[in-house]
Amino acid sequence: MVVTKTGRVLTLSAQQCGRLYDRIAVCAHGITCEFCCWEWQGARSDNGYGRIRISHGVASAHVLAYAVAHGRMLFPGEQVLHTCDNPPCCQFHHLFMGTQRDNMADMWAKGRHPGAWPASRRLLFMHH
Ligand SMILES: [Zn+2]
Ligand SMILES: [Zn+2]
Repeated sequence: MVVTKTGRVLTLSAQQCGRLYDRIAVCAHGITCEFCCWEWQGARSDNGYGRIRISHGVASAHVLAYAVAHGRMLFPGEQVLHTCDNPPCCQFHHLFMGTQRDNMADMWAKGRHPGAWPASRRLLFMHH
């Protein structure tokens, strides 16, 4: 599994994926539960989102949880959003891909590109 963050290739090992779930409070119903929020128990950013150190970078815990659960990559402009509006939640059933890419395409079409990507919009490439 490989994560690249704005061009840098980072390797996310199975051990690091395991560590992700060590810090997620999975409910008593177990990993198949779709209903309860599983809150991130580690460090949080100012806006309440979970943060996890991976190799030499820092990722949003819920974004990583989404990527690991779905085994896919995220592109700039894609956002992982919560159906439960609970920022520290890493319950993958509560996470879905946002549609900011549509807004971005619209901005490019109108000649208003956003310039440099904020650090929070990182590329994640996931491989098994
Ligand atoms: Zn539950
Ligand atoms: Zn939730």
